[in-house]
Order: sequence, then C-alpha cells, then structure tokens
Amino acid sequence: MSTMHVPFYRHGLSSADAGAVAAVLDTSFLSAGEVGRLVEAQICRYFGVEAALLGNSWTNLAHATLLALGIGRGDEVIVPAVTFVACANVVELVGATPVLVDVDPETLLIDFAAVEAAISGRTRAVMPVHLYGQMCDMRALRELVDAHRPGIVLIEDCAHTFEGSFDGERPGRHGDIALFSFYGTKNVTCGEGGAAISNDVELIARVSKVICHGLSASSFDRTRTTSYRHWDCSGPGVQGKLPDLLAALLPRQIAQVDAMRLERQRIDARYRAELDPGIRLARMRPEAVSACHLFPIHVAPADRDQTILALNDAGIGVTINFKSIHRLQYYRDKYRIPDARLPVGSVWGDGQISLPLYPSLTYAQQSHVIETVNRLVCGRSTGAHAGLPSWSLPTVPVLSERV
Ligand SMILES: *Cc1c(COP(=O)(O)O)cnc(C)c1O
Repeated sequence: MSTMHVPFYRHGLSSADAGAVAAVLDTSFLSAGEVGRLVEAQICRYFGVEAALLGNSWTNLAHATLLALGIGRGDEVIVPAVTFVACANVVELVGATPVLVDVDPETLLIDFAAVEAAISGRTRAVMPVHLYGQMCDMRALRELVDAHRPGIVLIEDCAHTFEGSFDGERPGRHGDIALFSFYGTKNVTCGEGGAAISNDVELIARVSKVICHGLSASSFDRTRTTSYRHWDCSGPGVQGKLPDLLAALLPRQIAQVDAMRLERQRIDARYRAELDPGIRLARMRPEAVSACHLFPIHVAPADRDQTILALNDAGIGVTINFKSIHRLQYYRDKYRIPDARLPVGSVWGDGQISLPLYPSLTYAQQSHVIETVNRLVCGRSTGAHAGLPSWSLPTVPVLSERV
C-alpha cells in the first residue's frame, strides 16, 4: 500500500508572488523601503488602526516593544503558560520577569481569573495570546486590568490570528499594541517577518526607532534622497526591519486572507464533525471568528509520542503547540513552578498534537488524517467525553464538541 503524504503545512505562494519579489530585485534597494511602507498602509486599512510597522519577526517586534515601553529589571509581564516560548523569552531578554499563568480548560486561552490573581504592584504588561486562531475577549481583559490598576499595557500576541475577530472586533482595538508573525508556517507568511499595529502612533514611532538601531532617521528615510543626512542614536536598539524583498510577498496574501479563512474554516469544521467524539478539542466561543490557524487535539499524555510516531509512519506531518513553558529547561531550572500551579497547561501541553490545516489540504488528504487519528485513538478514548485517560482534573468540563 502506498502511503499518502500529508505535509504539516503548505504555503499558498505562487508565481505572482515570485513576480513581486523579482520587481524588488529590479530596484536599487533591497532592505526596508517603499514596498514595506505600502504594506503597512494596507495593514492599517485592514485593521482600521492608526499605525502599522513591519518587522523581521514577531520576536524582534515584541523585544523592541518592551524596550520602547521601558519594561525591564524589577518589572513583571503576565504570559500564558501555553504559548510559544518566544513570549517568555522576550521578557527575559529585557531583564523583566515573565509571570506564567494557566489557560482556560475549554478554550486554552489565557485564564482571566489567573491573570487577575497574578497582577501585582510590579505588573507592567499582560500578553494575551490569541491561541490557535481564536481571539481572547480583549474588551473584557481591558476592563479587568483597568479595574485592577490602570496603566497596565496589553500586548496582543496575534501570531495565530491575522484574520480573526471577537464580537466583531479585530486585534488592535483594545490592546495597546498587537503583534503578528509572518513566520513560515503562519496563515500569512513571508518566511520570516512580523508586524505591529496600534492606535498609539507615538508608541509605534518609538518601536520603529528601536528596530532601527535606535537611529533618529530610519534607513528608509535616508535612502529616499540622494543628499546625505546625518543621523544620531537616541538609545540602544536592535535590527528588526523587514526587507522589501520579503515584504513583497505579503500584499496578495493580505488581500486574500478572508477568502482563505473560509477554506480553513471548512477544514476545521470537517475535523470537528468527523474526528472521534472522544477526542478532546479546543472549544470556540460563539463570539469568536477564528483564523483557524492550527487544529489541536489532545490525547492521553502517555500515548502522545507513540501517536505522533504512528501518524508520521502514515505519512502525516504533525507538530506540538505547545508544551507548557514552565516545563522547558531554562524556565524549569530558573522558576521551578510545580505542575499543580499550572494544572491545565501541564496536562494540555503533555497531550497536545496539531493536525495539518491549510487551504490546499485536499479532501482525500484530510480523510486520511481523520481515519488514521480515529484508528489510533480507538479503544483509548472510547467516545465517552468525560472518561479521557490521564486528564486528572475532576472539575474540567467536557471539551469535545461536534458542529
Ligand atoms: C510563531 C509564534 C511567535 C514567534 O513568531 P516569530 O515571527 O517566529 O518571532 C510568537 N508567538 C506565537 C504564539 C507563535 O506561534
């Protein structure tokens, strides 16, 4: 029997995008320039925000944001335990302390009660992550932190959602700044890249300076004219600018992102309808329009590695998003947070697997994934929602749902 191959991810770039890159090659300047400025204007229009800034990764933009906000030693930033490690890393890089909080057992998004309990006199920012494509309720989070102590900055991690919304509102509305990733597996990608949006024009200007070595005149401004302009440095910065060579890959994807979201939603809905109902899934709140970035399932932690091997043997690419950050070596050694303090994140992170989800996934490929997963979990989670093995949280409600 020949095995069907189902890669974990496929981008949707085409020869039209190659043409856009070739057009940049015909110009004299490959770094951050005219193309990037046009993409920033396109992003502003899409989100209806005052300012947008391209960068060469989510991580560099987040690092620059913390530097621009003056967050550092002695400060705390609240971060969910289940997210990519970059969220905590950037906080460490500026010398501040990432305070890891648990996630909601149904949506796997940052738990607001845990955020409230974690707010201290040192809290400078909260970093909600719109995990798997579903946005957090940003209006409620804003009310919660403002009621506690006004002035706490909300930094939205939008790496998993460009095109999602909650209650009709997109990212950047209630957060002080929202950060996107255009890394190679994201819904909108240029290989490596990112963007920041905000209605705070002055904050974006400061971040823009930090990602350009702290220079007073950006390299773009300096290349616009043939007459030399002196520059000064007003503070240490990083190199976080996105070259036009990569920015050229973004306009067509952004123009099509809402159409592509419907394709992703169709695939997401079929997984929900046809996977074994005993498999625990992330629940979508009715107010959320998800970007359907990833399709996470949860299996018994003791079975996960075996399940991944079997999926790989069946030609199916999968990945893990994510192990709880407190279990990763650096954070484990430095903070020694007991699993009991992050019970949902610990168990979810130990049994999570992400299945392939992208617009060009064929019907037959998805059938192969569904049949293989259902065969593998058969007998392990037998369709009884409540009886999931090793999910040792008696109060956790049933997660699996069918649409
Ligand atoms: C990918 C990702 C990041 C980091 O993005 P880069 O552009 O690779 O720096 C941050 N947060 C989450 C949730 C991610 O998935």
